Amino acid sequence: METAVSNSNKSNGNYDHDIIDWFESVSENAGHVQTQTLRRILELNYGVEYLRKWLGDINIHDMDACALESLFTSVVPLASHADFEPYIQRIADGDTGPSLTQQPITTLSLSSGTTEGKQKFVPFTRHSAQTTLQIFRLAAAYRSRAYPIREGGRILEFIYSGKQFKTKGGLAVGTATTHYFASEEFKIKQTMTQSFTCSPEEVISSGDYKQSSYCHLLLGLFLSEEVEFITSTFAYSIVQAFRGFEEHWKDICNDIKQGSLSPRITSPKVREAVLKIITPNPCLACKIQASCEELQNLNWSGLIPKLWPNAKYVYSIMTGSMQPYLTKLRHYAGELPLVSADYGSTESWIGVNVDPSLPPENVTFSVIPTFSYFEFIPLYRRKQDCISAIDDLVEDEPVPLSQVKVGQEYELVLTTFTGLYRYRLGDVVEVAGFHRGTPKLSFICRRKLILTVNIDKNTEKDLQLVVERGSQLLSQAGAELVDFTSHANIAKQPGHYVIYWEIKGEVDERILGECCREMDASFVDYGYVVSRRTSSIGPLELCIVERGTFKKILDHFIGNGGAMSQFKTPRCTSNQGLLRILNLCTIKRFQSTAYD
Ligand code: AMP
Repeated sequence: METAVSNSNKSNGNYDHDIIDWFESVSENAGHVQTQTLRRILELNYGVEYLRKWLGDINIHDMDACALESLFTSVVPLASHADFEPYIQRIADGDTGPSLTQQPITTLSLSSGTTEGKQKFVPFTRHSAQTTLQIFRLAAAYRSRAYPIREGGRILEFIYSGKQFKTKGGLAVGTATTHYFASEEFKIKQTMTQSFTCSPEEVISSGDYKQSSYCHLLLGLFLSEEVEFITSTFAYSIVQAFRGFEEHWKDICNDIKQGSLSPRITSPKVREAVLKIITPNPCLACKIQASCEELQNLNWSGLIPKLWPNAKYVYSIMTGSMQPYLTKLRHYAGELPLVSADYGSTESWIGVNVDPSLPPENVTFSVIPTFSYFEFIPLYRRKQDCISAIDDLVEDEPVPLSQVKVGQEYELVLTTFTGLYRYRLGDVVEVAGFHRGTPKLSFICRRKLILTVNIDKNTEKDLQLVVERGSQLLSQAGAELVDFTSHANIAKQPGHYVIYWEIKGEVDERILGECCREMDASFVDYGYVVSRRTSSIGPLELCIVERGTFKKILDHFIGNGGAMSQFKTPRCTSNQGLLRILNLCTIKRFQSTAYD
């Protein structure tokens, strides 16, 4: 693999061929490759404090890989982030001893934490940036088979570095995407794929997502003829950027016409970098203005192909908690294909989308067996009566990748090159099939229950389905759901669910009341249904928040050190700061009558 990355004389097509060949061969023997991957991780980190605690002084070097795998999984326990926290804290404080890895850890990543409510420190090493480059190149190779792009073209990338800071012990801390955008690997990726982002580094790392977003749009339009595709880490950022464009397009046109930069961009570094690129182009500005006037009448439907006529597709993570933004993304993308991006976490990359032409709803991720050692905890839904919702997830012993079964749901467990051993990631996936010998995973949801008052249990996915049902009535009435979250309110007895909606467009109160009732009736979880029938859970409350509320939530998250590129709207919150914003911004409240 390393030779494919370092051989700079190869053409792009050859790179694509090499990297696909490499992946096809490791997937063919994925079970064997996994055993070898575990062996490499354990040999590289032999003798570190965490492993010594479980493996003692056993000499692993003379063991064959299969015996080592059995020993490892029988002696080292499953663990969660909390088990690694004391070690990571010591590293953050400057302890350079071999506690988790033999190579000292010099950088820590912050996982977005938006689904858990709390950001977590995760070790980040050169290996993390290298695997990021590797998966990006691999995914690019599969994409260019389905949707070839022109070499030397541009990418309109809505990417944002977050803030970096130092720990007490001098380690650099930032989100994984922040580290990656600042790494050598990010520059290598642009050169190797011969696709260059429209925005210079100063725009990506401005630290103010509103300023960056404006400049991404301005430069993307200034270079619009050259743009081959449009992308972001999570789909949310693209939707957010185009919502902003609906407001600021006139200023952007003006800047293109005059070769100027709006005074809203206050960072001197960003101003200098952008003004170096743009020159007055009245003809282009005039064309964009005419297109925007037309688009305005279409409620901005088909904005992307209209303004970027050479774009071949839109590429971003569109699964899991990003699924609610698909409708809006499709609205902007018109006929342009939506290509769902790969599956990973701050802890490790997991799988690549090898079928880019599949619609995001059907996308699967083929596990990359060299990136980490993966285990799978089988999960079973206990079905109650005739109601087939998630009631309780019952789990079995973890199995290695070679033993997973199609149609079965699992929680993922990772052993990484960065010092996490048998780490429960908390994601639920389903094995949808195999790519050669490696499983193709469908992302189901985060395992953690998000809404629970007593015996009821609802996950992010359950809530998503309920909101989808409720918002159908909204779209029939010509309005649009901008974003949503929820809260299990147990302050008063009986407790009840609160769902917060930000909507665009005018809707009759009667319809909103109907949406509320529909959502209450759509929870199929047995515990919820029974509790509602017996009134041990109160009526569902729908709170309509004023326009811009979810932007305030994003700002709150970024104000606390988060990064726009990794932002995921929390789908359930008990965070007092967020609840304060939501409650202050609530303009209408409805109560369900579903079980009266
Ligand atoms: P973080 O490390 O905080 O940026 O977030 C990682 C989490 O984001 C994963 O554990 C998943 O829950 C979610 N995630 C990442 N990639 C995808 C994807 N392609 N589809 C659905 N969810 C994803």
